[in-house]
Amino acid sequence: MDDETFRAWAHRAADWSVDYLAGVGERPVRAQVAPGEIFRQLPAAPPTEGEPMERIFSDLDRVVMPGMTHWQHPRFFAYFPANASPPSMVAEFVTAALAAQCMLWQTSPAATELETRVMDWLRQMIGLPEGFSGVIQDSASGATLAALLTARERALGFTGNAKGLAGGPVLRVYASAQVHSSVDKAVRIAGFGDANLVRIPVSGPLHGMDPDALDAAIRADREAGLTPAAIVACLGGTSIGACDPLEAVAAVARRHDVFFHVDAAWAGSAMICPEFRDLMRGAEAADSLVFNPHKWLFTHFDCSAHFVRDPKALTDTLGIRPPFLRTLGQDGFVDYNEWSIPLGRRFRALKLWFVIRSYGVEALRGMIRDHVAWARELAGIIAADPDFELTTAPILSLFTFRYAPAGADDLDALNARLVERINDDGRTYLTQTRHDGRFVIRFQVGQTTTTRADVMTAWAAVREIAAGLRAG
Ligand code: PLP
Repeated sequence: MDDETFRAWAHRAADWSVDYLAGVGERPVRAQVAPGEIFRQLPAAPPTEGEPMERIFSDLDRVVMPGMTHWQHPRFFAYFPANASPPSMVAEFVTAALAAQCMLWQTSPAATELETRVMDWLRQMIGLPEGFSGVIQDSASGATLAALLTARERALGFTGNAKGLAGGPVLRVYASAQVHSSVDKAVRIAGFGDANLVRIPVSGPLHGMDPDALDAAIRADREAGLTPAAIVACLGGTSIGACDPLEAVAAVARRHDVFFHVDAAWAGSAMICPEFRDLMRGAEAADSLVFNPHKWLFTHFDCSAHFVRDPKALTDTLGIRPPFLRTLGQDGFVDYNEWSIPLGRRFRALKLWFVIRSYGVEALRGMIRDHVAWARELAGIIAADPDFELTTAPILSLFTFRYAPAGADDLDALNARLVERINDDGRTYLTQTRHDGRFVIRFQVGQTTTTRADVMTAWAAVREIAAGLRAG
């Protein structure tokens, strides 16, 4: 492709993107295709000769788009958001043009130094004290794995990498059942073994882990000759937004000298609003904390902010310096590949820099405050509706509910059908979870372009579909 053709297609892609986002609210939120429908339209063999871009681009609309679920739809209330924004997209375009591999300081000094700077901006924005260093990871899962590997090495006096784990002590990790499955996965990959993830019971309105039960579990393990290695707390668990009492958990971690990691993947973004920071009190005592600007800070996936108190512990765990990565005379600068599991790294800091500068902190706060306010308002409406039950109160912008009309039996099955019908209908998109043994429907507000009217339109659609379900 020559320069002028590239220019024309880059403009066309920009126009397509603006038009797509302007009209995305008219599309069904969740893809409405059957399994295999897209695959069957794709030729089994690759083209031998190049095809005209015009044809490729028209196949984007004809073949691909019907199979897309629209995460940037203003009535996307499923899972957690993967929200984004125009400044982030512009930065992603530039990042794609640069196509830089930012694994070492030398392979793009600006990428490393911008990352250090914007991570410190983020640290200030969420109210973490000085003394934390930040790195952008590909995902919260990757950050939590890096944290648990560090915890493992710390518990083993940094000998696990050298000698392996065989014949070593049994290492234990403590978390409530409200943490995301990325913790289970990290426990497995880091070699702790599923059986050594100790579940601590939760209580209270925030469904947080009981610090006394945590303390007792650690004492019992020590007495049994096991080695407590890490506590993982959640600040905004995936299912219902559970928040562990970080201050009390931190005190237990300190008492027993156990590594303390906080997964704030979703809720961390809301900590830019000082009024929500009660939830994070105690996080300043953590060894590491992760949150995802790619969830709720208007920055494209992938962008996971990982803060660590002791970067040397992380680089002693993950850093490997083969001769082919030496940067003669420049070794020893921050080489972020040593902070992460993959070697290769995209220039992820650029989009954060664009977003934070373009909006400013106050506007970012305003959007998150709106989301929380609208979620609370709708939760109040649902609590007052005799046909519905608010099953968990809002934690920030997430709550759960279920349809419970008088006389209905098997509410689990009824609500499962309701979710299916809502998502087939397409006006909004909701997903489910289980809480206290019951099937409940999650509702979270966090999309960039969502308005209060979108929240209320979604609710009207849910009520209408629920009424039809009973009638039919
Ligand atoms: N932690 C929490 C609380 C989450 O909700 C999620 C994803 O929704 C994750 C971790 C995993 O995030 P990622 O996709 O960045 O690995």
